[in-house]
Amino acid sequence: MAEPSILSVKGIETFYGAIQALHGVDLEVARGEIVTLIGANGAGKSTLLMTICGNPRARSGTIVLDGEDITALPTHQIVRRGVAQVPEGRRIFPRMSVFENLQMGAILADPANFKSDIDRVFAMFPRLAERRDQRGGTLSGGEQQMLAIGRALMSRPRLLLLDEPSLGLAPLIVRQIFESIGRIAREEGVTIFLVEQNAFHALRLADRAYVLANGRVRLSGSGKELLANQEVRAAYLEGG
Ligand code: ATP
Repeated sequence: MAEPSILSVKGIETFYGAIQALHGVDLEVARGEIVTLIGANGAGKSTLLMTICGNPRARSGTIVLDGEDITALPTHQIVRRGVAQVPEGRRIFPRMSVFENLQMGAILADPANFKSDIDRVFAMFPRLAERRDQRGGTLSGGEQQMLAIGRALMSRPRLLLLDEPSLGLAPLIVRQIFESIGRIAREEGVTIFLVEQNAFHALRLADRAYVLANGRVRLSGSGKELLANQEVRAAYLEGG
């Protein structure tokens, strides 16, 4: 990690009532990196992503974005600082058109950038350009995922948080989505923190990776190292 951290998470503990979901999570994401967090169902991956966005709030620990402590900030202020989240299940607006969904993503952005930003999203996802007037709810799963990512890009994020973008998609579409995520990082310079159960694709794409188990970081390393790691292979790759 030659670059300074854009995101630094230290000692995060998050609870749902009496249930502790995260037990002191530490991780770093450097500017321009693709970092992935893999782990089984219920490991706490989504909880960590949501905690970074301030909801739920960490009970202890610190979250630092570009040198600023954001641990206690409300979600909208975290978004204003350049963090965009693509939540699990995509959550696009089903009754709005593709174009209107993208407009919603730009709601906090400078209107002067709208035209060039939407052109960039349409260039990245030509499918969305072809369907700009189609209602979001009538898109295929893969197209909805593209729309959710495109909507997040409309806010010009510095840090894009993606929660299981491959969920429920056919293998060919999964490959396309991962390729797009790679281009967003390499061509657009957006730092990516990607939560995935699809460990194979995520580790192949990522510069670095963390394995979360029972709310704790169990392993970390480069994507390549973890792809070759026996424990990772046995638990998350073989038969998966
Ligand atoms: P998945 O891949 O299934 O989404 P995950 O790794 O993202 O799993 P989380 O959804 O973060 O895991 O869940 C971590 C733990 O917190 C689990 O034990 C889960 O049951 C619990 N949990 C998550 N959301 C809530 C909630 N709203 N209320 C109570 N417990 C919750």
